[in-house]
Amino acid sequence: MGKNNKANMFVDCVPQHNEVTGSCIYCTVRFPNKEKVKFIVDCGLFQEERYQEENNRFIFSPEELDFALVTHNHIDHIGRIPKLYKDGFRGKTYASKITSMLMPYALNNTAEILCANAQKNSRSKKVIEASSIPVFKSSSHAPLYSSEDVEYAMENVIGKEFNESFEACKHVAVTFIQNGHLLGASCILVTITYRGEKPIYLLFSGDYSNYNVFFDIKKMPKFLKNVPLNIIQESTYGNSSKEEIVKTFRTNLIESLKKNNSVIIPVFSLGRSQEILYELKKLQDSNVVPKNIPIYLDGKLAQSYTKFYLDNSDLIRIKDFLPENLTFVTTYEMRQNILRDKKCKILLTTSGMGNYGPAQLYLPYFISNSNCSIHFCGYTTPNTLGYKLKNATNGDEIEINGAKVIKRATVYSTNEFSGHAKSEDLIEFLRRFKNVKSILINHGEEETKKEYVKKVIQEVSPKAIAILRPSNCIRIGAYGIIKSYQAI
Ligand SMILES: [Zn+2]
Ligand SMILES: [Zn+2]
Repeated sequence: MGKNNKANMFVDCVPQHNEVTGSCIYCTVRFPNKEKVKFIVDCGLFQEERYQEENNRFIFSPEELDFALVTHNHIDHIGRIPKLYKDGFRGKTYASKITSMLMPYALNNTAEILCANAQKNSRSKKVIEASSIPVFKSSSHAPLYSSEDVEYAMENVIGKEFNESFEACKHVAVTFIQNGHLLGASCILVTITYRGEKPIYLLFSGDYSNYNVFFDIKKMPKFLKNVPLNIIQESTYGNSSKEEIVKTFRTNLIESLKKNNSVIIPVFSLGRSQEILYELKKLQDSNVVPKNIPIYLDGKLAQSYTKFYLDNSDLIRIKDFLPENLTFVTTYEMRQNILRDKKCKILLTTSGMGNYGPAQLYLPYFISNSNCSIHFCGYTTPNTLGYKLKNATNGDEIEINGAKVIKRATVYSTNEFSGHAKSEDLIEFLRRFKNVKSILINHGEEETKKEYVKKVIQEVSPKAIAILRPSNCIRIGAYGIIKSYQAI
């Protein structure tokens, strides 16, 4: 700490919010000549209903930002990038090349939903069929942004190769390092240098996983192991191992099909949908799931991403992942037929939490059907239909969009199909580095963060550790945390 007290180059970091969604860390670099560089890491949309107001404000002036960085193509990390430009940001947004290719899908879909929600009148119960991402309406009548704003934003998004360092602005270099959380997902290294000063290294983990079934993860640059690092780590993690989850999913599926039950699987569009399709293919290939049982995928965005996987097969190692007898559901009539048809089937439908997209149409119908199983394979936030269904017992009356239905279907859930590492894997990530100066914990439920901090102290005993909070700025120098002070 001694040397740090005299630091004349440092970075102040502060997040916009405490919660799991709406990820955004605001950083201000101060150089010895008093010049400043301002940037953000991620600019996510708040999805919790109670935080909708947060979507309208930034904790900085967008026009003052020098650049923005994004870790991965999840809407809670990129969902407000168009709003950033709409509000005056004129710099560049950097992402991994793959993320920059995926972003238009997610952002255009979100713009559609935002505009549809803004237009909604009192007949607001109708299903927005195209939507796959949970987004709540903003309090004002105007949408947060439109597809024109998305187009303008995308003109300013620059995709970069993994492990290739580039200068985002003078004295600030950036490197995207691949991780397994999602196709295109990265950890981001920010290196700040100035003549005569020791460099400051910041490593933003992003949502993290050390494994992905669909692609090999590029190794991180070797030099990272020994440089003095300040790690900003997301504490969102899964509790069960991937093997356990896949095993439970298979057991539940087989049990349901044996009873001749139809199986409805609410899915997230990117990653989860393709993983489950691949899982079904493997089960068909090993004759566990008969090929004559029809499989449906409903959700425009999930279908687009599936096509993206097929069209960009150089990015993924499993080229042949679609099961036989698979149909993309694209019309109203097809949906009506699926609802009418009593035969056993497997239906994947967005959204993963059940409250947006075509799942809104299917779930109320299938929940009251005792010949049906519903399998959630991801986290569901409170207030979502998925959460309600998971927590109801059979025979319970459930209110969905004003209508009352009796729960008769069997509801299964596995916490995570994949995507997030287990807490042990997050600790393992920290252990890879030999010279960690400080660890800042970000992006997770309060209890999870506290629990994780305890684990890190026990297992890694870092020199300094802190939880990032909107009320406090944390000042970091080349030797770690300098101080924490109240944010304005
Ligand atoms: Zn996240
Ligand atoms: Zn994520």
